[in-house]
Amino acid sequence: MDKIICVGKNYAEHVKELGDVNVDKPVIFLKPPSVLRQAKQGENLSVSIPTHQGSVHHECEIVIQLKSGGFRMTEMEAERCIGAVSVGLDMTLRDKQAALKKTGGPWTIAKVFQDSAIVGPWVSLEEFPQFSDAVFSLRVNGELRQEGKAAEMTFSPPKCIAYISEHFPLFPGDIVFTGTPKGVNSVLPRDTGVLTFGPIQFSLQWHELKS
Ligand code: MG
Repeated sequence: MDKIICVGKNYAEHVKELGDVNVDKPVIFLKPPSVLRQAKQGENLSVSIPTHQGSVHHECEIVIQLKSGGFRMTEMEAERCIGAVSVGLDMTLRDKQAALKKTGGPWTIAKVFQDSAIVGPWVSLEEFPQFSDAVFSLRVNGELRQEGKAAEMTFSPPKCIAYISEHFPLFPGDIVFTGTPKGVNSVLPRDTGVLTFGPIQFSLQWHELKS
């Protein structure tokens, strides 16, 4: 794996809830592999949140693992790169991001911090071929916070991958977060989360990052 690529503003209702405007091309940003936390099936993962940085939001998303790479791919070539899927969280420092949006600066410090990319177990396309029609969800402290499916995306996974590859090469093992539906919200230390997507299920417990 070379990198984690995240797509933003890919569900119209989420764009609305943040008071942003819809885009005609995917918004993309990167996270380094060092902030990735991966859960096994059924695992209860302990993850940190930096509580001294303002609000920390969950963004529950379908996550794709590439089995092959490419550069300047067509949508059909991009589709053939998809090796496995999962569900995860693109954790976001929302207050910091809102301030950066105002000044037009890059979102990096709002998106890159310890445990900010959380992914469940990978399930291959052979095992989960109908993933586009399956509902993924996040519950926090037992309450449904977010749910969605790939069919509701503005840009489908192959479209996102093809677009990313117009700009820089993709490698086998690269991970793509495909955007979040509405319902993003804060988490606090001691909150618990449960993520599900077809056969995939895992849970989380957040704790305070010791500064
Ligand atoms: Mg996101």
